[in-house]
Amino acid sequence: MKIEDTMNGFDVIWDLGRRCTYECTYCPPHRNNKTSPLVGFKDLKESMDFLDRYVSIYEEKRGKPYKKRKLSFTGGEPTIHTGFLKFAKYIRETYGDRYTIGITTNGLFTRRQAEKYKDFAGTISYHAEATPEEKKLVIENIKFIRHWQVNVMFHKDYFDECVELCKDLEKEGIKYIPRRIGDDGNDQSSIRKGYTHLYDVDQEQYFVNHWRKKDVESKQKDIDQEYVNTLKKSEDTGPEKDAIVIKPNHKSWSPTANEKGEVSQQDVEESLGKKEDRDEIINAKKVEIEEIKKPIPDLGTKKTEKTEDKKDDVTVYPSLMKDKKDLKERKSNGRMCCGGRDFCLSTTEEPEGKLATYVDNTNFYEYSCLVNHYFLYINQETRDIYHHQTCMVNLDNDVAPIGNLDNSGAIIERLEGYNREKKWPVISCPKTFCGCGMCVDKMDKSYDIKEHNFGITNIELIPNIVKPMEKTRTITVRNRMESIDDRLYIENINAR
Ligand code: SF4
Ligand code: SF4
Repeated sequence: MKIEDTMNGFDVIWDLGRRCTYECTYCPPHRNNKTSPLVGFKDLKESMDFLDRYVSIYEEKRGKPYKKRKLSFTGGEPTIHTGFLKFAKYIRETYGDRYTIGITTNGLFTRRQAEKYKDFAGTISYHAEATPEEKKLVIENIKFIRHWQVNVMFHKDYFDECVELCKDLEKEGIKYIPRRIGDDGNDQSSIRKGYTHLYDVDQEQYFVNHWRKKDVESKQKDIDQEYVNTLKKSEDTGPEKDAIVIKPNHKSWSPTANEKGEVSQQDVEESLGKKEDRDEIINAKKVEIEEIKKPIPDLGTKKTEKTEDKKDDVTVYPSLMKDKKDLKERKSNGRMCCGGRDFCLSTTEEPEGKLATYVDNTNFYEYSCLVNHYFLYINQETRDIYHHQTCMVNLDNDVAPIGNLDNSGAIIERLEGYNREKKWPVISCPKTFCGCGMCVDKMDKSYDIKEHNFGITNIELIPNIVKPMEKTRTITVRNRMESIDDRLYIENINAR
């Protein structure tokens, strides 16, 4: 399988800190609290200087510059930061339209604030656990701003409410995405703590129907026009095979539309072979439930180990990697791009590729992956920098930061070195679950790394070798947040 980007953009997810107005039960403590410090303007300005240099280095090796450079501020809740609007103004004045500014927010703010934020791009996440008054205000803001995407967080106990909201948004013509809760696949501990929700059969069927219906709608588009649009989107100056779209050729189901181009739910369900699908889901559920009943394996606690590769002592945390036994076979539900991005998907059945927003796989173990060419994640609170917030794999194939804002010069030097030598390492995915970052260029070993989509012509790409799991260093945001919290806790005790 090969996935190719069609957007030609660079996305920066900029986490301003954990402080948030809500306390959603599915949001772990490393993602929200009520006490984190609000970041200062000077810090943000320095981070922006680093970032602009970083993106420029990535751009130097490309045959075509990024079409879009997007800054997406998140948290916690980014609108809680009182200096945010001042910083946004600074970015616009200093960098002009080189960067677009967006926010991912829970939407809980006043109309006066909404009028100011309306100018930005944005995503509102709808959280059903909020109070009725809070939810009323959020929905008012959604309908006032209108052009932002709504991520409806499908809480399993508020499922019907979420379905109703989606229907309302559909009617209003507001873009929305039904989001499953949890990025951790079927991680048992995450399920137990309520950070990942397990859905019942009917709820699962809702997701299946939703995405199949979307797929039907996309089949009704003028495919030739889609192809032209895709080429325009990527401002193609590179190889002609860039994001080739052909008419999809699904054998298993083909619902028919009426003369208005509408497809009924019944049509979709009939064409799905509903019973078989449900049986498949029920069987998969049974396996999941059996898995959950098993005792949770002891993944170990933080410990310091000496590795052969690294001379210094390094802290090794419980690995994100799953058991070796299910490395390649690990069950995958598939998912769509969280940002609703299109990508070009090639498989043995469809070697020429087709435009897609959904991929029936989340296990890209050992795939060559170019996530670092499209994403950067800055955690302003820990000051760590990762390629991607969910993926977190770095250029050494570790699940760890690429560096820290306090030592950002080292990151720049390393990249400049690659550009001088005209050789860049390529991540070989060490994980068996890709929670996000799935829409960026990646390919299994049957493809040549030179067959990528993004116009790099003047450097050589060299895939990393996947290290044995026990040698993969794992330093996640959660680890870092917990170590900060531990330190503060100890300081607090000592101060008494
Ligand atoms: S609004 Fe977002 S950041 Fe805040 S608690 Fe809920 S999920 Fe977490
Ligand atoms: S987890 Fe990261 S490295 Fe692996 S496929 Fe996803 S984005 Fe790429």
